[in-house]
Amino acid sequence: MSGMFDLTGKVAVVTGANTGIGQAIALALAEAGADIAAVGRSPCDDTVAAVQALGHKAVFIAADLSSIAPVGDIVEQTVAGFGGFDILVNNAGIIRRADSVDFTEADWDAVIDTNLKSVFFLCQAAGRHMIAAHEHGRGRGKIINIASMLTFQGGIRVPSYTASKSGVGGLTKLLANEWSAKGINVNAIAPGYIATNNTTALRDDEDRNAAILARVPAARWGKPSDLGGAAVFLASSASDYVDGHILAVDGGWLAR
Ligand code: NDP
Repeated sequence: MSGMFDLTGKVAVVTGANTGIGQAIALALAEAGADIAAVGRSPCDDTVAAVQALGHKAVFIAADLSSIAPVGDIVEQTVAGFGGFDILVNNAGIIRRADSVDFTEADWDAVIDTNLKSVFFLCQAAGRHMIAAHEHGRGRGKIINIASMLTFQGGIRVPSYTASKSGVGGLTKLLANEWSAKGINVNAIAPGYIATNNTTALRDDEDRNAAILARVPAARWGKPSDLGGAAVFLASSASDYVDGHILAVDGGWLAR
């Protein structure tokens, strides 16, 4: 069984790999054997060093995904550095909070551009590469999009975030439909409440924090490393017949 989850010889591109969930997923994939292209608008020195300490190759690719300008470069630099790649994790994301009656166009565009538009066009660039590589005998490509509980629920005061993550869920299914027979599994992970920079304000708000802990069946915040197993599964041959699935890793939040 363990061979099923072995990523030795695989190359993974992870966006937003400098911190939080992206960093934890990059390290989990490396622990399973993968080499890592760590993509970030901030340097990914810690991630690169940690992957190298595990005995795997890692490079940093600088990219600001608030526009789609860098997506071609990300693919080109990865292919130049590693000879190809097998796994894409679309993790980079932002959130903006305000009542819908006050929500600005700037906060709408910023979130949609980063969380949805860049995700689609990086999938497109990676998909073109993976389909061609598969035709030339490379194994299956694996695309993992980081969704959210707000892929399934409405949320409140986060209209562009909810729209973006619902969109990511829909795109994940659409791309799975188009690409499964062409050699790519496209799936998503929907994290629950995970303790990262993204959620510091929620944890610092005593009432919100208590309400979250009271509602989540696991009765604790998730750790970024809680996402590692799901990512390795969806990146590995264990998920070759899993397509368009959105895997919640949420301590039971959605089950409640
Ligand atoms: P963090 O804020 O810790 O990390 C977000 C990552 O995205 C950082 O690496 C950040 O880079 C990167 N990023 C943001 N904007 C850009 C950009 N324009 N170009 C390149 N990289 C960018 O948050 P999380 O680790 O919590 O979030 C990771 C993903 O998980 C996001 O998609 C988020 O929506 C999702 N998620 C998180 C949940 C949680 O509870 N934490 C719950 C559900 C989903 P930089 O450090 O430079 O800002």
